[in-house]
Amino acid sequence: MSVLAFIESNNGSFKKSDLEVASYAAALAAATNTEAIALVFNSDDCSPLGTYGISKALKVSTEQFNASSYAATIEVATTQEAATVLICSSSSNSKYIAPLVAASLKAAYVPNVIALPESGTYPRNVFSNKGIAHTKVNSELSIIGIAPNTYGVHENPTQINQIDFNLVSSSSKTQSTSTETASDKISIADADIVVSAGRGLKGPENWGMIEELAQVLGAATACSKPVSDMGWRPHSEHVGQTGKPVSCNLYFAIGISGAIQHLAGVSASKTKVVINTDPEAPFFKAADYGIVGDAFEVVPQLIEKLKAFKSENS
Ligand SMILES: Cc1cc2nc3c(=O)[nH]c(=O)nc-3n(C[C@H](O)[C@H](O)[C@H](O)COP(=O)(O)OP(=O)(O)OC[C@H]3O[C@@H](n4cnc5c(N)ncnc54)[C@H](O)[C@@H]3O)c2cc1C
Repeated sequence: MSVLAFIESNNGSFKKSDLEVASYAAALAAATNTEAIALVFNSDDCSPLGTYGISKALKVSTEQFNASSYAATIEVATTQEAATVLICSSSSNSKYIAPLVAASLKAAYVPNVIALPESGTYPRNVFSNKGIAHTKVNSELSIIGIAPNTYGVHENPTQINQIDFNLVSSSSKTQSTSTETASDKISIADADIVVSAGRGLKGPENWGMIEELAQVLGAATACSKPVSDMGWRPHSEHVGQTGKPVSCNLYFAIGISGAIQHLAGVSASKTKVVINTDPEAPFFKAADYGIVGDAFEVVPQLIEKLKAFKSENS
């Protein structure tokens, strides 16, 4: 018996979500006295996963993402390693593949899980993170999708054994022929810190200070829906209920009112800092820290102070 972690990797390197999946798989394997095995796509060196408790890595080489082929490979590995639990992230690839594997292997799929199970019951976020459901699994194989930045990354140094594993080719109706990176900036999904701005910024020409704040903090940039609808910022930055979900450690909301649809997508972030001229802005009710003030005065001062702090402490 084993716990199998599906690790996607990003051009050979491991994303934070990969390490979170590995950490969760290792902890679950330890709790159930089984082995934590990783099925790793597109990384020549799987040894970093040993730091997070993975004792065996099955290395699969492939050039382009193909959902059917990935799912078929996961199915073979699951059966070969007698896995009773398959752990995956909440990436769009994982959300695509998990139902395929679940249907094929007649497994239960439990997405958005936030912690280890207690007595076989998994806690998971529901209703745009407004509630927690406790889900019991009644199948031999369960597929657990980890909500981003919830379980966390936990070191548990372990000797890792790396073995090549064959990709199962599959006659898919679709095929990715190439992948281009839209930007080399930190992605919202992987960011620890997100600097997000809204209509209070008045126009796209004022985003320089948002970019600069993000750069000083090593953060990703995001925006409210109207901002991307108006073309001030790319749609890839739209966060909220109908945009990307944000579940980072520190979320800055600058000139964003805090409408329910925006909050629904960002409320899983651990610490929220709100900068708004209107003391009655709804976002202040959800904020951990609030600054009532004009973004055009507050943000440049914040950048200056952060730069001074960094140079004093470097
Ligand atoms: C079905 C549906 C889905 C939606 N999905 C989303 C979604 O996914 N994401 C999303 O964001 N929205 C979504 N919306 C839109 C949402 O309802 C709000 O309209 C939107 O979030 C408001 O964007 P905003 O806060 O940038 O703008 P506004 O509501 O116009 O707020 C601007 C804020 O900036 C403040 N401000 C003004 N000047 C300054 C200044 N100089 N300094 C500091 N603060 C200032 C104002 O006090 C105000 O609070 C959705 C709506 C619907 C109906």
